[in-house]
Amino acid sequence: MFKAPTVPFNQERSQAAFDRACEFMPGGVNSPARAFGAVGGKPLFIERADGPFLFDIDGNQFVDFIGSWGPMIMGHAHPKVVAAIQEAVAKGTSYGAPTERESQLAELITEAVPSIEKLRLVNSGTEATMSAIRLARGATGRDKVIKFSGNYHGHVDSLLVSAGSAAASLGVPDSPGVTKGTSSDTIVLEYNDVAALQSCFAEYGDQLACIILEPVVGNMGCVPPQPGFLQAARELCTKSGAVLIFDEVMTGFRVAWGGAQSLYGITPDLTTLGKIVGGGLPMGVYGGRKDLMDHVMPAGKVYQAGTLSGNPLATAAGVAMMQLLKEESPYAYLEQQAERLAQGLSAAATAAGLPHQVQRVGSMMTLFFSEQPVLSWTQANECHRERYAEYFWGMMRAGIYLPCSQFEALFFSSMHTPELMDHTIDAAHTVLGAMA
Ligand code: PLP
Repeated sequence: MFKAPTVPFNQERSQAAFDRACEFMPGGVNSPARAFGAVGGKPLFIERADGPFLFDIDGNQFVDFIGSWGPMIMGHAHPKVVAAIQEAVAKGTSYGAPTERESQLAELITEAVPSIEKLRLVNSGTEATMSAIRLARGATGRDKVIKFSGNYHGHVDSLLVSAGSAAASLGVPDSPGVTKGTSSDTIVLEYNDVAALQSCFAEYGDQLACIILEPVVGNMGCVPPQPGFLQAARELCTKSGAVLIFDEVMTGFRVAWGGAQSLYGITPDLTTLGKIVGGGLPMGVYGGRKDLMDHVMPAGKVYQAGTLSGNPLATAAGVAMMQLLKEESPYAYLEQQAERLAQGLSAAATAAGLPHQVQRVGSMMTLFFSEQPVLSWTQANECHRERYAEYFWGMMRAGIYLPCSQFEALFFSSMHTPELMDHTIDAAHTVLGAMA
């Protein structure tokens, strides 16, 4: 049952909690996007979550369209995931030694994403991309990396160059502390620009270790690849001997069981995963072609390790989540509801006379306040961000918890009912109507 917050919306305890948190943590948070910097105001502090709902410490209830920034595709506190964690925790929280469940999870992942023949479990998406880049460099003996502006691959030094997500929202795409030397081998190109990619390969071909990209970008808002773009990346890498890395930390098990690579029919050499694969506990994965993965120590010479990698709680949650997805296959339902929401939001913005684009792939979506389709970081930056902030707070007051930046995609779960989608669309009509 959903009960929208009362108006005016009580944030007293959250605001006090935020002020206190600011005494202990930079900006009061442990990850920048949570501070609501892009929309102004103070963040809500969460007490608990259940299915499609979040409950804050002031007793307000929200329909959650962030889902912990992606992982909660089956809803919060799913009984099977909770039970798996409870069973695991009673047996100890970490051993620093191999367990059978690591292989069970690895098998489920390789079954879903066949391009992953071998893999390593790590603790975050950042670790996954960092390790994949090192492996690409180690295996090819080359240094240069191509990334695309507005694509975010975690806070890896060499990839924190023209990144999207919170780095962009806060206006610091190039972080102080990242040295020129670290980023000098990173070549940044515009997403969806095949000609730029071709000329880069023409100039640097035999120096390029890899391309890393989000096969559907979620970190400048939802930006799908244009026809031919992923194909060109694949062909150029194959020809030059560079490694193609799909960063599917966000899209993996989100846009399809087989990830974006299965949707677009392009096979990368390496894939990085995170978010959903850990069932809500810290987990990342990098994997791909056997011959490449066998460069990783101790099979090969490329070093990578982790005290808590393959942690028994995280693998228990991951296996439970993967089994759920395999058994229940929520993708047709998510697609149906995503289309309903996309059409509803677009109709609401049209009725309000607000120029907009709703861009989505599966249950990843962004309402851009933009006159033109957003296909690149340059175009993303032309959106009306102030309008998004107004929309965000209006929806929040109606009990709809959206991403706190124009440059973040929304996500929802198999627990979001058609009624909740309709409620969200009704709220959008009211909020956007008032902004007209
Ligand atoms: N890659 C992508 C595409 C992401 O969206 C993110 C995080 O949002 C990361 C990598 C980094 O993952 P983590 O935050 O787990 O380090």
